[in-house]
Amino acid sequence: MTLVDDRSKLDETLLPNGQQKSYLVLSAEERAKGFVRSVRCSYRHVGRPGPRYPLSDLTAEQSERYSETGYVKYEAYPESESPRIGRYWTQPQLDAVGKGCGSVTTMALALSETYARNPQFYGATFCSCCAKHLPVGTDGEFVWEGTDERVGT
Ligand SMILES: [Zn+2]
Repeated sequence: MTLVDDRSKLDETLLPNGQQKSYLVLSAEERAKGFVRSVRCSYRHVGRPGPRYPLSDLTAEQSERYSETGYVKYEAYPESESPRIGRYWTQPQLDAVGKGCGSVTTMALALSETYARNPQFYGATFCSCCAKHLPVGTDGEFVWEGTDERVGT
């Protein structure tokens, strides 16, 4: 596995261990401009976050309107989340909540610094136990080790 700071040299071919041949990082010059988050090298695979607010069953009208989607519950957000008013959940999404393997993966410093410079730089990261890439971000599957903070936020 190698790190490249030039997108034209990026090779996302998967190796037998599930990692990519190379990963894109921000250049040293870009990283030196300053971090907006702490530089952290280890994250834990905890699985998707669950609903933060009470769930309600779908109304007859919602069930009718979303019959093809598989939605089973609606999470209404409070005023403080405005302009977002809520989200729907499918049963597989609810079943996946908190179902990470629990393992900690440690990454190279240039990757950590890229996250710290631009937290939304990556859409997914590698779990060394699951041997695959899984989503990061608000609804992602990882937290920084020792915190409740989602990787990629
Ligand atoms: Zn895992």
